[in-house]
Amino acid sequence: MLKIRYFIISFIIFSSIFMINTVHSEELPLLHKVITIDPGHGGRDPGTRYGKILEKDLNLEISKVLQKELEKQGAIVYLIRDKDEDFSKNTDYRKKRGDLKRRIDFIEEKQSDIYLSIHLNWYSDYYYRGSEILYTNVNDKNKILAETLRYSLIDNKIKTRELKKTDLFLYKNTKIPGVLIECGFLSNRDDRYLLQTTKYQEKLSKAITDGVILYFNK
Ligand SMILES: [Zn+2]
Repeated sequence: MLKIRYFIISFIIFSSIFMINTVHSEELPLLHKVITIDPGHGGRDPGTRYGKILEKDLNLEISKVLQKELEKQGAIVYLIRDKDEDFSKNTDYRKKRGDLKRRIDFIEEKQSDIYLSIHLNWYSDYYYRGSEILYTNVNDKNKILAETLRYSLIDNKIKTRELKKTDLFLYKNTKIPGVLIECGFLSNRDDRYLLQTTKYQEKLSKAITDGVILYFNK
């Protein structure tokens, strides 16, 4: 009798462990996907600014929130920087170029499936607001990723502008699919307020994560 009970208990434990494992792998849509997040600027390069609010700091905050959201969905996520630094060297003839080149190397060394560059916008007309996604035509996937992310932002009720093309150095010099996400305008009062709140950073990160999941499902 004791043996039977022992057998039944073992069976229940074994099958529940098995079920948990199955459920988990089914529920994690980004399992094994390698995603590199590039928090724009850093160190000697602050990016754009509004008073004491620096783009480089908000880029990093948002990137860390986005990292958590992507990891929750099973992705392997690398941040190009997790502190206030840049990657230029004193020996670089062009500091910004050196910094960007090392970011590209990082994305490629990690064998990323995709990369996401996180930035903030600025425009002299302070009515301009909303997020904006930019891509290059260096491969066919960039546009698909950009469109999917834009769709997801709209679906998650995040203000989004039309897609834009860019030929900035970083984006045209790697074949790995990726886009530049301008999360909002530091020059606009409403965007500036939202971008500093954890709630909005999470909302934005969830929307981007949804878009990434859609992209990989295509
Ligand atoms: Zn920027």
